[in-house]
Amino acid sequence: MKMTFYGAARTVTGSKHMLTTDKGFNLLLDCGLYQGEGKDNRPLNEHWGFEPRTVDAVCLSHAHIDHSGLLPKLFKDGFRGKIYTTQATKDLCEIMLLDSARIQESDLKYINKRRLDKKLPIIEPLYDEKDAQMALDNMVAIPYNGSFNINDEITVETYSSGHILGSVALRLLLKREDKAPISLTFTGDIGRKNDAIIEGPFPFPQSDYIICESTYGDRLHATQTDVESKILSVVQSTCIEQKGKIIIPAFSVDRTQEIVYALDQLATRGLLPQIDVFVDSPLSVKATKIMAEHQEYFNKDILSYINKSGSPFNFPTLHYVETVEASKAINSSNTPCIIISASGMAEAGRIKHHIKNNIGDAKNTILLVGYASAGSLAGRLKAGDPEVKIFGEMHEVKAKVESMENFSAHADYNEMLDYLSCQDPNKVKKLILVHGNFEVQSKWADNLIQHGFLNCVIPNKGESIELT
Ligand SMILES: [Zn+2]
Repeated sequence: MKMTFYGAARTVTGSKHMLTTDKGFNLLLDCGLYQGEGKDNRPLNEHWGFEPRTVDAVCLSHAHIDHSGLLPKLFKDGFRGKIYTTQATKDLCEIMLLDSARIQESDLKYINKRRLDKKLPIIEPLYDEKDAQMALDNMVAIPYNGSFNINDEITVETYSSGHILGSVALRLLLKREDKAPISLTFTGDIGRKNDAIIEGPFPFPQSDYIICESTYGDRLHATQTDVESKILSVVQSTCIEQKGKIIIPAFSVDRTQEIVYALDQLATRGLLPQIDVFVDSPLSVKATKIMAEHQEYFNKDILSYINKSGSPFNFPTLHYVETVEASKAINSSNTPCIIISASGMAEAGRIKHHIKNNIGDAKNTILLVGYASAGSLAGRLKAGDPEVKIFGEMHEVKAKVESMENFSAHADYNEMLDYLSCQDPNKVKKLILVHGNFEVQSKWADNLIQHGFLNCVIPNKGESIELT
């Protein structure tokens, strides 16, 4: 029995880990897209390192594209098995995988137009909406914090990982002939105990092998300031005193709902001034609906808030914007307002239009609430660039740029150690680190070794580890 690591191995994206059992059953844990690797993205996403037809089934930890985004291509390339995941992840994938297919098709339209001009062959998308639909049609909902059998060799238990709606750690119980069974836990991405909306990560039973993420293996999050008072002070200075607009680039899943929930609480307490708040992104609007339908994943605090005050994502001045016409109407209005739009790094979607239209006026504020890679538009704004390129044109940054460090869907290293404290390190045969840059993983491994997890390994891409 062995695990082979085909993605998120010494890197953060492209999560893909294959279990091969004694009887030769191939179970793929996650099937994520490589992102943010520049020119390397394409070849990394084109070549599997294995034959998709030989995969028998997939277990998916959560809906983020770096974990789910290659499922359509897996079908396109011949996989015909089932994808096991929670109902909420299935619902989120429904909007995210179709959106991913559309983004690829529209990005390539522009690139292929230029290639045709240069008489170069056109590039095909990795997959299209039809492939995405095939992946969705083959998703099977599994119990949340429960267990199920894939076959007589593999039982899967799920434990909330507290990362995003529907995310779970997968604990596999692997039967062997004439030998004791092996337990292997794949943490997926580990969230935080104090998430505003979803339940924190659950402890999981002792495991022989643990495949653990490493995103912030070398980092501690800043102490959290009060989200609501910070938002309120930006609203006061921008919308009330300067009569300006607040533009918030936010990831469609989770971050958008966290901001809306904070505003909802302010509105309920009568503290939010009467200004319009727009969630202007079709994907964010759909994600909010899905979130509202899955309260079984919510934490106690938000459930008691819902009991007292009703929906956490709905207050009188909040508007969900879907059509292009309605989005353009917000752009042409001069009334102070808050615009929450995607994508989170401001690299695609309507947020780019909102930033372009409002960046040149000092009375406006661009409020950054999420992770932004250095080269992204949000990243350049965060770094304080005096001018930024949007749609091929340079724009002077006259609007105020503010950052809130309150939000992260990933645990830092102390929070991950706390999560792993449910384990007796002496009984863990191997702690396998994935989903992190190698430098970060090396520091994370040193830290784990100091905490008793003496057998920490950091597999390279394509490397196999025998499970004994
Ligand atoms: Zn994730």
